Amino acid sequence: MAISNPMEEGLPANSQIVLESRPTGPVEPRHFKLVKTNTPDPGPGQVLVRNLYLSLDPYMRGRMSDAKSYAKPQELGLVMGGGTVGEVVASNNAHFKPGDKVVGLGGWQLYSLTGGDFLRVVDATRIPLQAFLGPVGMPGVTAWYGLNKIIAPKKGETIVVTAATGAVGSVVGQLAGFAGARTVGVAGGAEKCAYAREELGYEACVDHKSPNFAEEMKQALPKGVDGLFENVGGQPFEIVARSLNDFARIAICGLIASYDGHTTPPTASLRQILTNRIKIEGFITGDHLALWPAAISELAAHVAAGKIRYRETIAEGLESAPEAFIGMLKGRNFGKQLVKLA
Ligand code: NDP
Repeated sequence: MAISNPMEEGLPANSQIVLESRPTGPVEPRHFKLVKTNTPDPGPGQVLVRNLYLSLDPYMRGRMSDAKSYAKPQELGLVMGGGTVGEVVASNNAHFKPGDKVVGLGGWQLYSLTGGDFLRVVDATRIPLQAFLGPVGMPGVTAWYGLNKIIAPKKGETIVVTAATGAVGSVVGQLAGFAGARTVGVAGGAEKCAYAREELGYEACVDHKSPNFAEEMKQALPKGVDGLFENVGGQPFEIVARSLNDFARIAICGLIASYDGHTTPPTASLRQILTNRIKIEGFITGDHLALWPAAISELAAHVAAGKIRYRETIAEGLESAPEAFIGMLKGRNFGKQLVKLA
């Protein structure tokens, strides 16, 4: 990662990571640049936030490309966008005061200046602040929406979750379990699968790296599949799809296996969708902002009560963000990938 240092003397320091160039294949550190800069004073209506944790999310890979998508691409030379939690340092905005703990879109930087849009004060007395980037934040709401509004699990049904121990998948599995479903996870490696069963309550978890994956998946699905929460795409989708029951529901949440440019997402067969009367629906959580408060208050209650368990992989320091992001795209994270900024 290149470093640039255009600082003025006398002003407080900030560090930012900007997008230096667009990857066409796997992301590399050279696609980012670390910029040392100054922290301006807030203008009228503005709030200065010291970011404490940065969330790294798979969607950021899509924004690094300028291919047409549901969101605008990340602009070259500008600070990488991203969710953050932090503390208000100075404020000229009546809705925020110094010391407030906030969740917002502060980006890959130590300090962010904002007009207050998408900035929310949170109560971090019962829930760790960084959980507002995980089970009580965007990933949690994604799980809640896809499971409840698309799959709508019924007692006794079998629900399969790919990337089962990740930020989204771990919440899906637990919510589906609360609804009385039989949950089957798909995860990479024995350690993640053991955690899925022992901590997250999945009745079974199949390791997609196993040479016998197809056979093990079939054995884990004696009654077929009624709901599939798809986070990955790729080979697991094709294998799980063989076991779909009549009237199964598939929530297409993410296709991470293909984000970094090596594979083509699989498709379901139209014949199978017709003959099995399958519902298949893609969704983007940001389209459903009106439902966020209800989802967040439910998730917060579960996390505060210790009912929803979660795990985090925390990289130390802003400079570590590119490597941590690259690692997450390769499946090296175990639970929510965060960067501790302070
Ligand atoms: P995770 O915390 O689950 O991290 C990504 C995980 O994907 C990896 O740890 C890895 O787990 C798994 N994975 C499986 N196969 C591959 C592969 N071939 N290459 C790389 N990784 C793989 O991330 P999130 O929970 O934040 O996101 C999960 C999915 O949800 C993503 O696809 C994301 O884009 C999507 N998403 C969609 C949203 C929406 O609005 N639709 C909102 C938020 C997220 P393992 O080792 O177990 O395989």
